[in-house]
Amino acid sequence: MPRAVVPATSTTVSVAVAPHAFNPVATSRAHRATVTVETTVDGVLSIEVVTGTGVALATLRAPAQTTAGLPIVVRWAGTGVSDGTYGIRATLVDTAGATSDSVTPVIVDSASPRIVVAAATPERTARGPVTVDVSTTDRSGLSRAVLTVTNQIGTRLGTVRMPIQADSSHATLSWNLRLRKRLLLPGVYHLSVAGADGAGNPATSNSRILLVDRAVTNTVLYSYRGVGRVIGLAFDDCVSGQAWLSIIKSFKLAKAHTTFFCNGVNVRAYPQAARATLAAGDTIGSHTWSHPQMPTLSSAAQASQIQGDKDIWWQVAKASPMPFFRPPYGLHNATTDAVAGSKGFAYSVLWDVDPSDYLYPAPAVLVEKVTSHARAGSIVVMHVNANTAATVPALIAALRRNGLEPKSLDEMFGVAAYLAPQPR
Ligand SMILES: [Zn+2]
Repeated sequence: MPRAVVPATSTTVSVAVAPHAFNPVATSRAHRATVTVETTVDGVLSIEVVTGTGVALATLRAPAQTTAGLPIVVRWAGTGVSDGTYGIRATLVDTAGATSDSVTPVIVDSASPRIVVAAATPERTARGPVTVDVSTTDRSGLSRAVLTVTNQIGTRLGTVRMPIQADSSHATLSWNLRLRKRLLLPGVYHLSVAGADGAGNPATSNSRILLVDRAVTNTVLYSYRGVGRVIGLAFDDCVSGQAWLSIIKSFKLAKAHTTFFCNGVNVRAYPQAARATLAAGDTIGSHTWSHPQMPTLSSAAQASQIQGDKDIWWQVAKASPMPFFRPPYGLHNATTDAVAGSKGFAYSVLWDVDPSDYLYPAPAVLVEKVTSHARAGSIVVMHVNANTAATVPALIAALRRNGLEPKSLDEMFGVAAYLAPQPR
């Protein structure tokens, strides 16, 4: 362990160094230090770079006459030294022959910081606040820390600047779950921190999960207009793992995203497809645990159907179908809507186009049934089965020929899916 540089000041010579840390090989920010030395008396001034033990490594100014009150400016680029803390020492020999010196530390730091974000406390919350803490052992500390919040498929929702603690090794935020003054809706979120060390070297932390869960008002939708020439295809039930994976792959090849409303029993049966859905960036929603006719059930039984689906997505993929719910057969009553809201689902998403794909129509017929009814903002109900899966590539192509781009519900809703409406 090298000995620390001990700052020293004298009354006759002062040393200011800016910035206090730099990266000699940086290109787009400070890559050297500017040293400003001033004396209060005339004399002979020299400026050197020294180690913690006082050994001179470089001469920034050879001994030369200086005038009181006239600042001397030199620069140090850190050439040829390894990362560490160094001292800038200014030595003055006054006209009477007395020597005095001052030393100011400067850090050479070419390494990106390792920034570690701790688990949010608590990790599950209704409205917050949650405490987010990041730390680094970087030699120049933290100079910037920005909390970045994404949804569970990695879409960035917003950022919050984090106050840096005095010792610069931590930044801690007590966060009220608001982004742009809007409260996070129920859902699973990923928290990470983008930061920089004292020399400006940037880095991004690991990621932590935050589960927001509380009752909300449920809104029933049949389409989502006003977001351009887009169409929301959504595939229900997920009774076939193979067809499920095939649909994911077809959308990936088409560079598009889609939506799945799977029953919990099928999420449990096909965990690999469930995780692949999220990895592909597709949207998931709840379709209940086992596809009952919801209005025939008691309020408690309806709640249990939705809770079971939430639980299995968390268990299998640390994910949540919130905020999207689709009642089986499109059957819902006031109790269903209230229960969905109480379970954290802000939207019950039905449809305005039903091509009856559960009848296994020939591909050309299925494509025609969708394209002839679809318009901007339409939401289409289909199912995860082999016949539909085989038709998906032709369907995407046909919709695009008609000027309609397939989008997932996440893409159609944007931040509205995760941020409460702006308070008025
Ligand atoms: Zn269904």
